[in-house]
Amino acid sequence: MIKFLDLQQLNQQYAAELKAAAARVIDNGWYILGEEVTAFEQEFAAFCQVPEAIGVGNGLDALTLVLLAWLALGKLKTGDEVLVPGNTFIATALAVKAAGLKPVLVEPEPLRFTLCPLAAQAAITDRTKAVIPVHLYGAMTDMHGIMALAKKHDLLVLEDAAQAHGASLNGKMAGSFGHAAAFSFYPGKNLGALGDGGAITTSDPVLSETVRALRNYGGLQKYHHELVGVNSRLDEMQAAFLRVKLARLNNENKARLQRAMVYNEALAQSGLILPQQPVNSIHSFHLYVVQSPRRNELAAHLQQRGIQTQIHYPVPIHRQQAFKELAMLHLPVTEKLANQILSLPLSPVLSAEEQGMIIHAILDFTQGDRC
Ligand SMILES: *Cc1c(COP(=O)(O)O)cnc(C)c1O
Repeated sequence: MIKFLDLQQLNQQYAAELKAAAARVIDNGWYILGEEVTAFEQEFAAFCQVPEAIGVGNGLDALTLVLLAWLALGKLKTGDEVLVPGNTFIATALAVKAAGLKPVLVEPEPLRFTLCPLAAQAAITDRTKAVIPVHLYGAMTDMHGIMALAKKHDLLVLEDAAQAHGASLNGKMAGSFGHAAAFSFYPGKNLGALGDGGAITTSDPVLSETVRALRNYGGLQKYHHELVGVNSRLDEMQAAFLRVKLARLNNENKARLQRAMVYNEALAQSGLILPQQPVNSIHSFHLYVVQSPRRNELAAHLQQRGIQTQIHYPVPIHRQQAFKELAMLHLPVTEKLANQILSLPLSPVLSAEEQGMIIHAILDFTQGDRC
């Protein structure tokens, strides 16, 4: 059986250091908002080339807290429209709704999977106040296009970088383009904790201070609450684990990229549509997603050979019960993608032998069974 992602094997590489990090926190005796979180925030900000990172409970909260902060600062008003790609993970749209704002779904660029600036422009009304580009699968959104559009229409830009730790465009890191960015450290992400975690990056000191208050009951000083906050803090244990993992992130991303290039070369003649790396960008290859009109048959064929695949994501947001108010939308690019995309196993610990077996099985399918 070739697993889609072998997390046990991935973290086993660093088991000794992870155990030492846990021991450090246990022996220190301070578990919430202490020196591990502060150190991780500084290290992650430096990695993303931004002045500030704020650790929070998870990626969904990272997105929601930025929007709540903008509401608290009077930069957004309840009911404002926020542009969101139609083909993203549900969390992007859930955050908008949780903050009392209105998600407006926009079609992606079909080959890049990311928000199309032209489609975004066409969706702008006088109530549109923000846009959330998602660097889906690790592919950078056309941030030059999005930032130009935002400037022209005075929109706030919140990057959803939950799949793009270490991705960059023209040498500029994911999470450093917008007015703020949200990251997730869910265990399966490129930078994964051993539990839940998330972070916000920004170069806006006022936003940073507001988010720091909001994540901790709405106050910066204990028992003084200026804002209606929540409890969403990265904890010391996860921060300590993340510091171990962050030191390995560049190497792990290189290993992902190398495996993606192997797929690209081996599958070039397969007839599958392969992922594209946007010009002048470094893709973080959180996922390696191919497209085929025979997607379901291909997935079944690989399953039969003991190869796990996944679909990110099988049901678009406007087809979810939770967003039934959007059910009248017709988003042909998003809908077609949902029917044709397939994520192949790709991780820093996928062995060359396993990848060879996957490639062989795919070519058997696309060239008709040779065996
Ligand atoms: C994982 C993910 C999130 C949510 O992160 P959690 O930590 O699971 O809350 C948000 N957006 C995208 C694009 C994601 O992939």
